[in-house]
Amino acid sequence: MEARVCAGTPPSLRGRRLGLNTAPRGPELRRIRRAVLGVGRSGLRPFPWRETRDPWAVLVSEVMLQQTQAPRVVGPYVGFLARFPTVSACADAGLGPVLEAWAGLGYNRRARALHRAARAIVDLHDGVVPADLRALQALPGVGAYTARAVLVFAYEHHQAVVDVNVARVLTRAMAGVPLAPGAVQTLADSLVPRGGAWHWNQALMDIGAVVCTARVPACGRCPLARGCVWFNATDTTPDPAPAASRQTRFEGSDRQGRGRLVDALRSGPVPPSRLRAVCGWPEDPQRARRVADGLVADGLARRAPGNVLVLP
Ligand code: SF4
Repeated sequence: MEARVCAGTPPSLRGRRLGLNTAPRGPELRRIRRAVLGVGRSGLRPFPWRETRDPWAVLVSEVMLQQTQAPRVVGPYVGFLARFPTVSACADAGLGPVLEAWAGLGYNRRARALHRAARAIVDLHDGVVPADLRALQALPGVGAYTARAVLVFAYEHHQAVVDVNVARVLTRAMAGVPLAPGAVQTLADSLVPRGGAWHWNQALMDIGAVVCTARVPACGRCPLARGCVWFNATDTTPDPAPAASRQTRFEGSDRQGRGRLVDALRSGPVPPSRLRAVCGWPEDPQRARRVADGLVADGLARRAPGNVLVLP
C-alpha cells in the first residue's frame, strides 16, 4: 500500500480515528449525498448506455464492460445493438455472428456467455431480462456485480453497484483503512439515496474512474474531499483501497494467440496451413494447434472439412 502524497488535516477532522465504526448518518450522510449527486447529470461521462433503460442494452453494456475500459466499449456496444437490438435477435442468431459483432473487445468467452444468456432469457423469462437478483445471477456470465448493475441501471432498483472504482472511493472516503468486500457493499447500500440509485451509482463510478483514481487521486477537485477520511489523515497513512488484481501478461500469451485466431476467423475460414502464422507463432505449430483445440473445445470455433477452422 502506498502512502498518500497530499494532505493537511482540517481542524474538524483532527483526531478522528481511522476505520468505519458506523455508516454515515444524519447531516454527514446528507452532505455526502449532496456532494455525490452534485456531480449532476451533465457532469457524467457521456456513454450511450447511460441514455437508455432498456434492460437488454444495459445487460450488453455491463457484459462488455467486464474487463474492458468504458471508452473502448462504446464502438462495439453501438455496433452490437444495431445488429442485435433485442434479446430474441441475439438468441435467434448463431454464436458465429455474435462473435463477429464482438470484434474489438477480446475475452471472447463473454460473447459466448451473453449469447447463452439471451437464449436462457428467451427460454425461461419470455424474452424479458429478469428484474430479480437471483434470476439474473443464474444467467450465464452474470455475476453479483453485473446483476446489480442491471437492476439499478435498467430497473432503477434501490441498491448499490460496487465495482473496483466505487470500492476505492468508499474505502478511502469513509474508512481510511481496508474493508472486507462485504463491508464495502453493506456501506454502499446504506448510502444510496431513495429514488436516486441510478444517478448516485453512476456519479460514484465516475468519481472513482476520473477523480479518485488508483495511482494519483485528484483530491483537490473531489466533491468528497471535505469529509474524506484518507485525504484528511496524516500524510503517511497507507492507501486503504483494495489492491487492483494483477493482469496476467498478454503479450506472447496463449490468450493473445486465441484472440488473433478469433480475429482471423471473423474474416473467414483458417486452413491448417495458415494456423501458425495467424496465431503469431510461425515456429511453434504445436502451440498453435493447442490453442486451436482449446477454441474448438470452448465452442468458439469449429472444424469444417479439411480441418479448416471456422466460426461456430
Ligand atoms: S478526497 Fe476524493 S479523490 Fe481524494 S482520496 Fe478522498 S475520495 Fe479519493
